Amino acid sequence: MLWKIPLSDLNYGPEEEAAVSAVIRSGWLSMGAVTQAFEAEFAAFVGTKHALALTNATAALHLACLACDLGPGDEVILPALTFVASANAVRYTGAEPVFADIESEDWLVLAPSAIEAAITPRTRAIMVMHYAGFPCDMPAITAIARAHNLAVIEDAAHAVGASLANRALGTWGDLGCYSFFANKNLSTAEGGMLVTDDDALAEKVRLLRSHGMTTLTWDRHHGHASTYDVIDLGYNYRIDELRSALGRVQLTRVADGNARRAELTALYRQLLAQSAPQVSMPFSQPRGQSSYHILPILLPEGANKLAFMAKMRAEGIQTSWHYPPVHTFHAYAQRDQALPSHLPLTEAIAARQVTLPLFPTMTEEQVFHVVKGVADSSKL
Ligand SMILES: *Cc1c(COP(=O)(O)O)cnc(C)c1O
Repeated sequence: MLWKIPLSDLNYGPEEEAAVSAVIRSGWLSMGAVTQAFEAEFAAFVGTKHALALTNATAALHLACLACDLGPGDEVILPALTFVASANAVRYTGAEPVFADIESEDWLVLAPSAIEAAITPRTRAIMVMHYAGFPCDMPAITAIARAHNLAVIEDAAHAVGASLANRALGTWGDLGCYSFFANKNLSTAEGGMLVTDDDALAEKVRLLRSHGMTTLTWDRHHGHASTYDVIDLGYNYRIDELRSALGRVQLTRVADGNARRAELTALYRQLLAQSAPQVSMPFSQPRGQSSYHILPILLPEGANKLAFMAKMRAEGIQTSWHYPPVHTFHAYAQRDQALPSHLPLTEAIAARQVTLPLFPTMTEEQVFHVVKGVADSSKL
């Protein structure tokens, strides 16, 4: 389908093409100098000691869980209002995801009080997700983690360029994971980054990213090593130079792209309040600096969400849903939960939440058009 207004769109220019061409001409395609530069630049951007580029954020979350030594018998507290990859990463290790509720109908992220209520003697870690790039209450969450000796993993897939108290999201916990998937704020088609300030965690991730091998093809090519040992059960979660080259260019666009997303979000807020007051827009309170990755709205209670989405589709406007709660999926609902899921806020939100188009190259005309569509389609 050709949308008049798509949900998201790339923010690419000729520089991305040139960067990829340069890699092809260089003759070195997998993890090498370009990836090292991307990692160093990303580490400086978020203000962390280590940044490790990976195939995608799901791999980053998996390695973050492994670096925390999670395994069978362990529990990890996380929101159900997230992409399934967050919970899958926990399960890859044999550990059990334990879902906890969100703060409120306004702030759609894991609530500190819900975390505390979900802690058991088996709890080993908290995995937060900064929904749309809006910060979780990291001072409260890291205090809970310290008090109970828990690791904190940040799913910062939405949050490139976002911060709280001038500290980048993704750098508050022990490990932070970013996604560079095609529709994310920084896109390399597929790709991800894991950041940490901890040398030992970084070393473990570095090993696991490439088969648990002590040296890389790159090192051997450069004569730094001639053989290797395998000292852990690793994976192939490496990124390639083409994607790292895209990432270096995209990193220079994030600040402007997020600023434009902020402007468009403010315009949406103003216009929706005028033309569609029956619809609400979460994250109305000030807290930190969002990356405005997506634009969630809540339809009025009792509204038929699928009918709304169908009317918007008829107008050529693409909408989405972030997210069907993870605990309602078949692959999750039938599992023996260590704790029964009781997530009234998550479930209430999920029934009413719709995501509207938002991307840096969006025009104000397009926002007017979407808001008109929302006003017409959301009348009860
Ligand atoms: C996109 C996304 C992921 C997965 O990222 P990939 O890079 O596609 O693996 C994980 N969590 C959240 C919240 C996401 O939005």
